[in-house]
Amino acid sequence: MALKALLFDVDGTLADTESQGHLPAYNAAFEEAGLEWRWSPELYRELLWQPGGRERLRHYILHHKPKLGVHRSKAREDTDNWVSEIHAIKSRHFKKRVSSGKVTLRPGVRRLMQEARAEGLQLAIVTNASSRSLEPFLQHTLGEELLGGITEVVSGEQVLRKKPAPDLYLEALKRLKLSAPECIAIEDSEMGLRAAHEAGIATLITINDDTREHDFSAASMVVDQLGECDVPIHFLKGRSQDARCVTLPLLRNLVAGNHTKKTAKTRSKRSA
Ligand SMILES: [Mg+2]
Repeated sequence: MALKALLFDVDGTLADTESQGHLPAYNAAFEEAGLEWRWSPELYRELLWQPGGRERLRHYILHHKPKLGVHRSKAREDTDNWVSEIHAIKSRHFKKRVSSGKVTLRPGVRRLMQEARAEGLQLAIVTNASSRSLEPFLQHTLGEELLGGITEVVSGEQVLRKKPAPDLYLEALKRLKLSAPECIAIEDSEMGLRAAHEAGIATLITINDDTREHDFSAASMVVDQLGECDVPIHFLKGRSQDARCVTLPLLRNLVAGNHTKKTAKTRSKRSA
């Protein structure tokens, strides 16, 4: 089956949004709210296992029991609202960082998207992030022209269960009117891989510092970046004999390989 769409995760995949954007924005929000909390990169890496910003804050308050200071009574009596207030301050700081150019696309993202558009493939964004924080990020990093080439944006609040559940990917397939073997997901984390894999979509992983230790055994290929081809990238799982970076022919091969493997598995199950 031919490859018809590339499905991109956002945080950690399109850009190092966590280290360049979200983490400093959380710490700025804590300072603005008069909280002594400061999240280190190590603690944040642990909190990333929570599927969203509000979930991360709630988990931190519940399990790390930080000092609540003057917010004590509100934090205890009306936790959800208080968490939403802090999250709103964080989103404002994140937007400011994005609009001042502090969050940039990872190598190869623009090239691969342009290559896909030029060959008539569809592009979709599939992310746990909310559309509120997503829109300014996409506007600033992709720019009008590339953003205009994105067919669908499926964001966290549009489904019942975020990643690692497959809901976002299943919703993307439905909107694109495509089947799983016609798509490839590009992700950076185990949580994203589980979501795509459960939806039956072949997945290419581009690792980063927060995710290099994750379990990527279900991925079709793992690389350190999509790359620009003038500097060879590192293939951590799966190899392509002549590719120096992630290209459309390479993605087509991955999808074809994934389909062949699945067909062989189904046949051997049937004959067993
Ligand atoms: Mg991600």
